[in-house]
Amino acid sequence: MSQASFRGRRPFVEIDSWALKSNWRSLAMQAPDARTGAAVKADGYGLGGVIAAKALFAAGCRDFFVAWAEEGAAIREAMPGKNCRIFVLQGLDTEAARLCREYFLIPILSTPEDVDLWAVAEGARDLPGVAGLQLETGMHRLGLNDVQSRRAAELSASGTLDLALVMSHLASADEPASSLPEEQLGEFRKRANRFPYVARSLANTAAIFRDPAFHFDLTRPGIGLYGGATELDPSGALRAVPRLVGHVLQVADVKRGEHVGYGGTVKLKRAARIATVGLGYADGYPRSANEPARTDGAPVPRVFLAGSSAPLIGRLSMDMSMVDVTQLPVDAVRPGTEVEFYGPNVPIDEVAQRAGTIAYELLTAIGTRVARIWI
Ligand SMILES: *Cc1c(COP(=O)(O)O)cnc(C)c1O
Repeated sequence: MSQASFRGRRPFVEIDSWALKSNWRSLAMQAPDARTGAAVKADGYGLGGVIAAKALFAAGCRDFFVAWAEEGAAIREAMPGKNCRIFVLQGLDTEAARLCREYFLIPILSTPEDVDLWAVAEGARDLPGVAGLQLETGMHRLGLNDVQSRRAAELSASGTLDLALVMSHLASADEPASSLPEEQLGEFRKRANRFPYVARSLANTAAIFRDPAFHFDLTRPGIGLYGGATELDPSGALRAVPRLVGHVLQVADVKRGEHVGYGGTVKLKRAARIATVGLGYADGYPRSANEPARTDGAPVPRVFLAGSSAPLIGRLSMDMSMVDVTQLPVDAVRPGTEVEFYGPNVPIDEVAQRAGTIAYELLTAIGTRVARIWI
């Protein structure tokens, strides 16, 4: 039995590994003087961290960033013998330190406690393992402040701390009008100068496109790899990676004056043909994208089916949603027809914008019951 028939009419997300690799190469070409890494945290932005890392390794990526040591260990285990660096961005404790040593992960030290644990307590037991350092430069999320980084610099100079990277993170690289990224850049230069022989990293996806001054030695794109935030890319080279798909369960002709969906929020002004699709907010499509109570005049989100786009109608349910297919040829839509909620034909950023959120959140919210199909 094929996987497709086994899935039946349940939703799936198709993930285009060719597009993922192509996006990595495009981002690498934008920063030709730097190494290009990849953020594969949160299970590869919800799509599958291990498979994403394997595909990106094949494309040439050798530097991976995960949030937690366990994520890094899983990637290391899935790629035996592959020579790459895996940086762990947060959450160092004795267990995470043990995982870092066992799986050759590089912890990014962000607090004085991290530094003590890695360089002093762990280092006393063993040779000091290589680490990265996160510096606070203006976001105030996670990172060593100025005073704390001086102490780390002393440990580095004395050889107690073996550093592979100093990094910081930008709060608003995707906002052209913001001057905060440039302020952070200045701050980063100053603070990173305390670590004269250590590689530097500052850029996420948006900063890669913002200005080469952000590139330094290693970039850390995430969302651009997965086909979000494409509007940041002036070359238009970034491609959609995930295609979120549900199937039509029923097609019905509904009379003028009838209501559609929870709350009866839609009252038909004309007779309509309504396709009910087996994909709802539990699958990760945001209910707020088509919340009729919205008063901001945002256009109704559209989905793509039978070669055309058509609007969602009525409130999204947990497991279902309705599409107005009145404008499509009568026989074009039937039970089983595939419906793309976002993907190559429906930009994920557009859906996110309508829902008042960002593509990152949509990707990481894809339901656990949605099959990830890598092609
Ligand atoms: C998530 C993350 C990135 C990737 O950011 P994108 O905006 O997805 O490109 C880079 N660096 C750090 C520290 C991150 O947390």
